[in-house]
Amino acid sequence: MVVAANLGFPRIGLNRELKKAVEAYWKGQSSVDALQATAKELRMRHWKMQQDAGIDVIPSNDFSFYDQILDMTATLGAIPARYKHDGSTIDLDTYFAMARGRQQGGVDVVAMEMTKWFDTNYHYIVPEFTKDTSFKLSSTKAVDEYKEAKAAGIDTRPVIIGPVTYLLLGKAYDDVNPLSLLDKILPVYAQLLQELQAAGCSHVQIDEPMLVMDLDDEAKAAFPKAYGELAKASSLKLWLTTYFGYLRDNLETACSLPVDGLHIDLVRAPEQLDVVLDAWPKEKGLSLGVIDGRNIWKNKLEASLDLVQKAIEKHDADKILVAPSCSLLHSPVDLDAETKLDAEFVTWLSFAKQKLDEIVLVTKGANEGYEGIAEAMAVNKAAISDRATSARINNPEVKARMDKLTAADATRKSAFDKRIAEQQKVLNLPPLPTTSIGSLPQTQDVRQMRAQFKKGDIDRAEYDKFLEQKTAEAIKWQDEIGIDVPVHGEYERNDMVEYFGEKLEGVGFTQNGWVQSYGSRCVKPPVIFGDVSRPEPMTVRWATFAQSQTERPMKGMLTGPVTILQWSFVRDDQPREATCKQIALAIRDEVCDLEKAGIKIIQIDEAAFREGLPLREADRPAYLNWATESFRIATSGVEDKTQIHTHMCYSEFNDIIASIADMDADVISIETSRSAMELLDAFVEFKYPNEIGPGVYDIHSPRIPDTQEMVKLMQKALQVLDAKQLWINPDCGLKTRGWDEVRPALQHMVAAAQALRQEVKQQAA
Ligand code: GLN
Ligand code: ZN
Repeated sequence: MVVAANLGFPRIGLNRELKKAVEAYWKGQSSVDALQATAKELRMRHWKMQQDAGIDVIPSNDFSFYDQILDMTATLGAIPARYKHDGSTIDLDTYFAMARGRQQGGVDVVAMEMTKWFDTNYHYIVPEFTKDTSFKLSSTKAVDEYKEAKAAGIDTRPVIIGPVTYLLLGKAYDDVNPLSLLDKILPVYAQLLQELQAAGCSHVQIDEPMLVMDLDDEAKAAFPKAYGELAKASSLKLWLTTYFGYLRDNLETACSLPVDGLHIDLVRAPEQLDVVLDAWPKEKGLSLGVIDGRNIWKNKLEASLDLVQKAIEKHDADKILVAPSCSLLHSPVDLDAETKLDAEFVTWLSFAKQKLDEIVLVTKGANEGYEGIAEAMAVNKAAISDRATSARINNPEVKARMDKLTAADATRKSAFDKRIAEQQKVLNLPPLPTTSIGSLPQTQDVRQMRAQFKKGDIDRAEYDKFLEQKTAEAIKWQDEIGIDVPVHGEYERNDMVEYFGEKLEGVGFTQNGWVQSYGSRCVKPPVIFGDVSRPEPMTVRWATFAQSQTERPMKGMLTGPVTILQWSFVRDDQPREATCKQIALAIRDEVCDLEKAGIKIIQIDEAAFREGLPLREADRPAYLNWATESFRIATSGVEDKTQIHTHMCYSEFNDIIASIADMDADVISIETSRSAMELLDAFVEFKYPNEIGPGVYDIHSPRIPDTQEMVKLMQKALQVLDAKQLWINPDCGLKTRGWDEVRPALQHMVAAAQALRQEVKQQAA
């Protein structure tokens, strides 16, 4: 008998109950007990939901107050010294201090670092290792939650992060090699397994997603060592769990481990089934991840069943599990809560709760044959074919345009040297021009008016009048302080992707499709369901209004195709590349319309360009190719004299610098202030040919940098790059800051530019 399994369920709750409870606790508005009660209620609700759906293998310890990696850090007692932990069981306040820092009663400790979980938009808390890090079982969360479920009559399979992945995801200080800590953490893992066994547990899910990454020999060698120890520690059945990609060259390593079962992701990498079926020992369990844990489309039942059938032909059905590709953490909770989506659209979708039913259905189909699920199969097929043929998905005009795309569409008319000369004639900018990244403080009044407009309390005309007034004020102020290239402030936008998503055809929105991004923060990604097109201009109205307020060249502001793609749920019926290029064409139309309307500088933000990078080196060139091409399609419709900017805010450019240059934006602004311009190295070494604005103002901090500080940063840049090549700007948009910080900071920035221009002039003389 094939068995239905799950790997993890969203923890936030249908109405983001966990978010609300945690935030109330942080604000001191509720007690630990109240928080724990909400947590318990949610765990129980989700376990019951899975049980009712007919899931046989139900996970526990997938719940978290903040993040599962941080939970493992707490479990292992790897608490950085600055939290002054006394070595006893970790309390919730220490836990939250690690996640968010603590600023209270004279104590001021910073949080642990946070970073993206593989190629998802979930963020985990990065373990910190120093030569003094010691390990000791310091949290019984996994055992407690196992017992809690058991007491309710549900025998769960606890989820823990595997030791090798845990160490490899950490960051080491003092020259410590994280893998050298393996010997120290294994005894704690062993103890944890023993305690789980003592509590009555019979199997655990050990997540080792690192097995889908490129690993060096040392990392590969860590696996047999770790699992040799863990297999000896208890008689628990160990389920080695991989997701987000292929095992590829790590398959041999996985197959050699003394574990009882293996989970593979067959949504991301269905082609690995055959090799795994051949390589994986037949006497061991195999869990097939056939339901997409990371997207919201209804499962194609027939295709999933085919995969499972194939497995049953070669392996004993009693050893096979049907499961989601990865934890359902990355899906919204329940489609039934979407009361406003139209009836047709709803039939195309599936959220976490619906995915449970899909898992059970595929399992049933595997056990009883197609006849056993004939009715459900018919419904599923109808929904799939409806989606495939729906007029809302297929736009022949977009398809025709895509077919006609040529290399010329992705190439500016002339090379950069010629363009920049033309641009300078029109723009007449001073050396080291100043600008900012787009948004200005989204103050209370802006948010309030937007909320009122959305509720219908004020009409469009009143809202627009308010926005015009805010925009005009902002431009007037920028003119007064002497910003060379002003921005309109983005007051009309809630979010840089949602704003465009709402204006594009082929993109939809859910009411309640929240997914955890980090801690209590959730995002509600747009749904790109069909061919994307732009029925009418999206930003021209605001750009022209803004330009009418100033003599200086106002910078038009758009979000790039890769970023829109990356921050949405994307249709799975065509390659991402095709969807990205469709978005690029829509943005291209907007760029051309802005040019026609007299906008001379247009910035296309690609904040998520790097984030889209595939996990494996071998898959990266293909992505970089189409991502770069998409940006170029979006930007190449304009005349030489129109200046194209792009903006990217993150650290690490080294591995993608060639592609960044290949995007051929006339100017790029990047985030450099925190690293004290270290990030510029990549551009210098590469001899980046176009212009660059290295950020001089860390907008993630409430600190106001003074003039001298910004002068120093730019002097550093001037040592390695030509003054002609440089711009002066903040690291990123200013929407999260207050005017009290932004006003002086930008004034200091302009003063820094003036001082630097003098210096440059003197040096030239
Ligand atoms: N133009 C956007 C802004 O200023 C860019 C935001 C981003 O890069 N994340 O807010
Ligand atoms: Zn940014």
